[in-house]
Amino acid sequence: MIVKPRIRGFICTTAHPDGCAANVQTQIEYVQGQGEISSGELKNVLVLGCSGGYGLACRVVSAFGCNANTLGVSFEKQPEEKRTASAGWYNNIAFEAAAAEKGLYAKSLDGDAFSDEMREQVIDTIKADLGKIDLVVYSLASPVRPHPRTGELHRSTIKPLGEALNIKSVHVDRGEVIEVNLDPATEEETANTVAVMGGEDWEFWIEALVQADVLAEGCRSIAFTYIGTELTWPIYWEGTLGQAKIDLDRACRANSERMAGIGGSARVAVLKAIVSQASSAIPVVPLYVALLFKVMKEQGCHEDIIAHIHRMFATQLSTGAEPRLDDDGRIRMDNIELTEEVQREVLKRWPLVNTANLDELGDLTGFREDFLKIFGFGFPGVDYEADVDPTLGRAV
Ligand code: NAD
Repeated sequence: MIVKPRIRGFICTTAHPDGCAANVQTQIEYVQGQGEISSGELKNVLVLGCSGGYGLACRVVSAFGCNANTLGVSFEKQPEEKRTASAGWYNNIAFEAAAAEKGLYAKSLDGDAFSDEMREQVIDTIKADLGKIDLVVYSLASPVRPHPRTGELHRSTIKPLGEALNIKSVHVDRGEVIEVNLDPATEEETANTVAVMGGEDWEFWIEALVQADVLAEGCRSIAFTYIGTELTWPIYWEGTLGQAKIDLDRACRANSERMAGIGGSARVAVLKAIVSQASSAIPVVPLYVALLFKVMKEQGCHEDIIAHIHRMFATQLSTGAEPRLDDDGRIRMDNIELTEEVQREVLKRWPLVNTANLDELGDLTGFREDFLKIFGFGFPGVDYEADVDPTLGRAV
């Protein structure tokens, strides 16, 4: 079939098999171009949420920058004869093939990472194939979480707390700067968001892995957060998502205690705003990101996903690195996004930006390009008119 992007709201329902492979390959080539990262102790890495966004970048840097074996977990849509799979399904296959070529172990388990069954499957795989894990990357982002112990299905909500919010955003498809009205979350909506995006599941993972004795001496675990600035605080840090991320900080301390017996530790890393499936769905964020990208590109300090994660491994997780921590013990990777020069300029443009000057003040084009790349569209060298087999010849 000929695969074209089909966009529905915040997602693209198609993914290009060759384009996804090109996406993975581009990231690998970036990492290889930077030279090896000194990280002898990172032999086996477990990535929860390995198939896209920050998780995929962590997997690429682990394997191609640190020579680590990787076990990944993600939740994918299988292809059919006339329907493409999710982008992550193609990304995992492309990643595994490239890792195998380099002689590295890489296995991806497809299923619900929130379930206890998946935890068992991961533990069995570690015991059979790897022995012990040196780094656990927790990079799940999901709108729903079936609770493994209560059976309840929690749904997250992206809303402010306390008062209704009227705030600028952008309609990405139409390229229009708009105002959005968001009602405040109820207590139940906030609790559900914490249940989905908070730290309980990360705790369940570390608890199970420690109990099964599959974490190596000195093992580390890392999960990701976003803090942002006064422009995004009302919808992010001061909203339902912020409550979930505060819970992630709590879980981090609990996980560090759990890992103390093996000389290990857990950390939350504050990452920069990028375009991902998860972040595209958050109101305000696409407009902020469009302005941010334009300013960071103009000032020559823009980083894409892979550059950002490579910097995190190279400067914060490598052998002997002294992590740049804030007062709450989080690794701050958002230091470039938050520099005064960048933020002063973004803040100056925010009240001025409108539909007519969006291209001049912001980089919506770059936002759209990055969004399409998540699904494998827009890579040079890929023939988007060619007939492709969405199943890649595999039995489905
Ligand atoms: P993403 O949507 O690109 O990737 C999420 C991954 O989780 C995918 O591999 C997906 O398959 C997997 N996943 C989702 N539900 C699953 C389930 N039930 N079982 C197994 N796998 C599942 O997300 P992202 O933007 O890379 O976000 C990852 C983390 O980084 C989140 O904690 C997010 O808050 C944080 N973060 C994101 C940004 C940003 O701008 N995107 C900035 C800072 C921090």
